[in-house]
Amino acid sequence: MSVSTATRQRRVAEPKPAASARRNVYEDVRFQFNKAADLMKLDPSTRKILGTTMNEVVIHFPVKMDDGRIEVFTGYRVQHNNALGPFKGGLRFHPAVNIDEVRALATWMTWKSAIAGIPFGGGKGGIQMDPSKYSVSELERITRRFTFALGNTIGPEYDIPAPDVNTNGQIMAWILDTYQSMMPANDRQRMLHVVTGKPIEAGGSLGRDKATGQGVVYLIREWAKDRKFELKGASYTVQGFGNVGSWAARLLKPFGSTLVAAEDVTGAIANEAGLDPDDLAKHVRAKGGVAGFAGAKPITHLAFLRTKADIFIPAALENQITAETAPLLNVRLVAEGANGPTDPNGDRTLFERKIDLLPDILCNSGGVIVSYFEWLQNKRSESWELQEVDCKLYRRIVDAYARVRETARQYKVDWRTAAYVVALARLEKVYRERGIFP
Ligand code: NAD
Repeated sequence: MSVSTATRQRRVAEPKPAASARRNVYEDVRFQFNKAADLMKLDPSTRKILGTTMNEVVIHFPVKMDDGRIEVFTGYRVQHNNALGPFKGGLRFHPAVNIDEVRALATWMTWKSAIAGIPFGGGKGGIQMDPSKYSVSELERITRRFTFALGNTIGPEYDIPAPDVNTNGQIMAWILDTYQSMMPANDRQRMLHVVTGKPIEAGGSLGRDKATGQGVVYLIREWAKDRKFELKGASYTVQGFGNVGSWAARLLKPFGSTLVAAEDVTGAIANEAGLDPDDLAKHVRAKGGVAGFAGAKPITHLAFLRTKADIFIPAALENQITAETAPLLNVRLVAEGANGPTDPNGDRTLFERKIDLLPDILCNSGGVIVSYFEWLQNKRSESWELQEVDCKLYRRIVDAYARVRETARQYKVDWRTAAYVVALARLEKVYRERGIFP
């Protein structure tokens, strides 16, 4: 395995981020945005528009629990920008969901769609709660009541949610059913595309479930080609073994790479000789997490971060790679399956240490790209073969990769900043052509 240094991301003078002690991801987004906007001299009017979110909805809604008690939940939907098309972005159910996190995630969605060249804007939402504490019927009522409370905040041509952390096809199916029930009977059948990431039977697309992990693996392959790096015999670690992490781990295996450590909310495990990702995914489905997987030893969080491997795929939550943790990593590439796993201090350290980075807004865009395909299929009453979905995803995400690589070379910057420049240039052009009403 050899990594050419000729095309390594080069270092330029950079603004200094605030200390890692603060953990406000929205500040991180603004930092990343300002850095790219300064670099490309973004038009000041476009900068003002894109520097803030468009709409923010906060809803406190009551739900009846199984034992008859009422609990009041807080839910959010933030719409960052829709210059390129309807707002688009996931719904997260997690105790740490808050307005700034949702703002950050909504903003990243705008950049992601712009880089991928799909006609969507950026939105995101969530409910602040720990779903593991509720029964299935409670989760259903929470989801349906939140959908009802959102009302016309979402819509198939206006704002289209999808799965994110702790939400899945079942939750999307409940949202679809509730939304359709709120519409006049005559309109209902035209509403299928109000959410994406649905189960196949409820109008979902083949390949959407694995799409984000699939996109991560397509890009790792492109990176390996560029670096003349042999994936056969390479090793990797994965943080988060949910939708994105487990699919990425499973889809990398056929290239002859070995998963040597994995971590999720239940703990971290390792085996230098390899963990079988398919068996591990089965174990996680049965036991709820990676802990206790046969043939692996439990390790600490720090030992997980220090694990020597070629590739690290963070696929859990934000702020995992920071000034404190980036120096511990012993890898050549960080491929961001998660949104915001690296804060600006972490970015700086990775860059200084010449660790390559496939940034979230490029690397995990497979999900929104196939969501776009699902949306199109629903609108056209079509259903595409898996091969067609995969092929279209490959072409689009590899095109986006090439644009970001070219921009990184042109501006001599890290790939995250380059990805921002690609997104901002597209949006700047749209605003220049469309102008501002009135
Ligand atoms: P998921 O709920 O399916 O999985 C989340 C995983 O993270 C679980 O394995 C969980 O145990 C783990 N986790 C949670 N807290 C952790 C912690 N403190 N330490 C270690 N592991 C922890 O969610 P997902 O859909 O796979 O999303 C994961 C990430 O990918 C998120 O950042 C999400 O925004 C991003 N993402 C998801 C999609 C998608 O299509 N689902 C698309 C793009 C980006």
